[in-house]
Parts: sequence; C-alpha cells; structure tokens
Amino acid sequence: MTSPGLPAPTHGRPLRVAVVGAGPAGVYAAEALAEQSDVPVAVDLLDRLPTPFGLVRYGIAPDHTKMRALRDTLRRTLDHPCVRFIGNVDVGVDLTVEELQAHTDAVVWTYGASGDRRLGVDGEDLPGSLAATDVVAWYCGHPDADRELVETALARARDVVVIGVGNVALDVARVLARSPGELAGTDMPQHVLEALAAAPVERVTVLGRRGPAQATFTTQELRELGHLEAAVALVDPPGLDEESQVRAVARNLAVLREWADHRPEPDKTSVRLRFFARPVRLEGTDRVTGVAVERTEVDAADRLTGSREVDVVPADLVVRSIGYQGRGLPGLPVDQRTGVVANTGGRVTRDGVLSPGEYVAGWIKRGPTGVVGTNKHDARETVRALLDDAAAGPLGEPGPAGDLLATLLDRGVHPVLLDHWQAIDDAEVALGATRGRARTTMHERADLLAAAHPRT
Ligand code: NAP
Repeated sequence: MTSPGLPAPTHGRPLRVAVVGAGPAGVYAAEALAEQSDVPVAVDLLDRLPTPFGLVRYGIAPDHTKMRALRDTLRRTLDHPCVRFIGNVDVGVDLTVEELQAHTDAVVWTYGASGDRRLGVDGEDLPGSLAATDVVAWYCGHPDADRELVETALARARDVVVIGVGNVALDVARVLARSPGELAGTDMPQHVLEALAAAPVERVTVLGRRGPAQATFTTQELRELGHLEAAVALVDPPGLDEESQVRAVARNLAVLREWADHRPEPDKTSVRLRFFARPVRLEGTDRVTGVAVERTEVDAADRLTGSREVDVVPADLVVRSIGYQGRGLPGLPVDQRTGVVANTGGRVTRDGVLSPGEYVAGWIKRGPTGVVGTNKHDARETVRALLDDAAAGPLGEPGPAGDLLATLLDRGVHPVLLDHWQAIDDAEVALGATRGRARTTMHERADLLAAAHPRT
C-alpha cells in the first residue's frame, strides 16, 4: 500500500493518530487518513460525549432532518477497519494532553468551538437572557444542556428577541415559531417538544446590528422562515431597496423584499427581522424585560456607526446568537482574541514555533464559520500536512507508548466504542417507536451510557 518514494511506516507498524472530537471535522480528518495510501494508519477518534457526530447531532436544527441524515454518511468512516471510535473520553480530564501525545505519533485537534461570544452590554446576565448555545443544546438534547434554565425562560416567553442575523439565529427563531405538528417528525427529546408546544411565543424579533446586505444567514435558511405553518415573516423596510453585485446578498434581499408588505396575522406567530439595530443594554431588574437598541447606519466599507437614537424592544426571553467561541484544553492554549489554536495550514504552533506531531482542523483551526461541508476541505488540508511531515521523518520522539484504549480501561474510564454507539442508536430508534416517531434523542448522559453498556 505504500506509495513509491515514501518511507515505510515507522518500525513496521501503522502511524498512530488520535483525532480529538468526533464532529464533522474529526470524522473528515479520520476519513482522509483512512482513505490515503501513503502509509498504513491506525486512527483513534475520541470524543468527550458518548455519541459521535458533534454539531451534526447537537447543532444542526432537528427540523432540518435531511441535513441531520448526514450522520449516515459520517457513520461509514466509523466502520472503517483502521478507525476506532472511542467516546466518553474527556481529554484534559480522563487523560492529559501529554499522555495522549505519548500514546500516539500525532494528534489532530478537532473539538470545535462550543463556547458563546459575549455581547458586553449591561443586563446580559439577567434571568431570561440566554446564549443561543444554551437553546440549541437544549432542543438538540445535548447531555450538558441546562433544561431548567431554558424551560423556565421559555414558559413565560411571549416576546422573544434573538440577537444576531446568522444561520444559528434563524434556526432558533424558526424552531421557536414552528407548530407542534411541524416538529413532531423530528428526533427532538419528548420534553423539548412538550415545552415548545406549551410556550406562549407570539412575537420573535431578530435583530441585525448592520443592514440586510451584511447579514450572514444563507438564502435557503431565510426563505424557510417565510414558509412556516403557524408564523408570518415580517421585515422592517430600511435597507431593502439596496442593490448588490454579490449573488448571495442579492438573493437574500429579494426574499426580504417579498416580505415587505406582510402584516401580522391573528393566531400566527410574528417573526420580524429588524436591521440597523445594535443592542446597547438588556432592560430589567430581576429578569429581562426588553432590549434597548440603538439605530445604526452602515458606511461603504460595511462599518456601522451609532445614531444615539435608542428604543426598547420588549422581551421576556432574549437569545444572544452572536457566534461561537473556541476554548482551550488544559495543556492546549487558544488565542484569546480569535478563539482558535494557533496554526499554519493545520500544523499547530506553540509560542510561534511549529509543534511536531500536533495538528488542528475545523472550527478550532479556522474559527466558527462555514457549513458542515467546509470541514471536509479543511480536514484534508490538515491531513495532507500530517502525511507530508510523516513522509519526511518521525513525527515525534520517542514513538507511542502502549495502546490508548488499554490505558483508558486500566484507569477505570468507560469508553463508548462503535458497538456501544450502535446500541445507543438502536435504543433511540426503539424509544422513537414508542410514540410513532422514527427516533427520539436520549438527552441524559446516564441513559446514553446505560444503553451503551447494558447490564447483562
Ligand atoms: P455568524 O454567521 O457569524 O453570525 C453571527 C451574527 O452575530 C452576525 O449577524 C453578527 O453581526 C452578529 N453579532 C456579532 N457580534 C455582535 C454584537 N456584539 N452585537 C450584535 N450582533 C452581533 O454565526 P452563527 O450564526 O453562530 O453561525 C456559525 C456558523 O455556522 C456559520 O458559518 C453558519 O453559516 C453556520 N451554520 C449553518 C447552518 C445551516 O447551514 N443551516 C445552520 C447553523 C449554523 P456582524 O456581521 O455585524 O458581526
């Protein structure tokens, strides 16, 4: 299998690579390693959670059922004989970064960017002000989601304000505005369906601090907001008559112009997009009651300036959807400003110096941008760098010490391997069937682990 001109694998054994984070970037990195023929590899694909697929499971909105079906494609890589999925292993807790490095020739960090960015305005931490990451984790059934936090806020949410005009903001607005019938076919946990059905949401206002031409949502996601069974899409006029040579922007503006004459309808939730509105403060004393917004203008370079004209949008629930933020691990720093691990084309640098045998892919490499497929190209670039380095000589000294899985088992960790994940998957399908659904996500870590390791 070794290509002419490239060295045989070190000491007659496969190149041992740990990929940390089994989301799309991690799976694509594992795939790129598994499918190349330069050198035999053994890939350990680790995840902190008992389940693989990262944001495909815990980020893509559950009503995007076709996009979520991507897990079936990603699953094929987990079946590859040189890839070993090892879930329920928290690097930095169950084993240190140094121990992981000592067990492998190379590590590829692909654990994404799960934190939320801060607005930095007064009132941001009032009860009823949530990060989109909290809401998305909750409706996707993430085991670390704070049910009480979200459900308490949702139970009194007649007026919702979503801050930000990216795709996550539209996901949140859409999920909150959907009818129970539209959500019944998703894999959302049952308590999520029930809480959404009981929520008194009447108005959802989505705030962009710049104009519609600067919004980062994509046209397909925008258009979807105009086709909801129990909601009407509204837009405030400023900025709609702008022309753009950028096709994606022109398409967005065309969709928004179609909504310009929409009016609120009785018995329907209003979803209103309002641009040129910068949040300057969240109002309220013991809980959020509104968002004070300053009217803005945008110059030719897309930069905003404030007008000092402020009004208050009423809100019982505020969802701050202003982007994700990458975090470091103990032993792996991220750049505080950019939230990424410093790297050159996927090769990790520490203090400006290349760190041998250490690579990075996905959001923790380039920041929280792009669609799932963007990670494929990104992971391939990283794996190419890794293989080129491996061809040039040993990646680290000395070679790996012992088998990673054996070490984890020795120290009492309960890893979730592929068969265990299959058992979770089967249990979710069986749980769905009890209510005539194709699948229901199990949200409790204990339930996931019980399904993974049933007592015999
Ligand atoms: P995003 O596209 O970067 O959107 C962030 C939004 O927050 C922007 O509108 C930004 O406005 C705004 N913002 C940032 N700081 C702000 C502040 N201080 N005050 C007010 N607004 C502020 O990020 P995202 O929506 O979190 O999405 C992350 C990535 O995942 C994106 O690449 C997205 O396309 C992708 N995604 C895709 C899908 C899909 O394909 N269906 C679904 C979900 C997510 P400015 O532009 O003015 O900074």
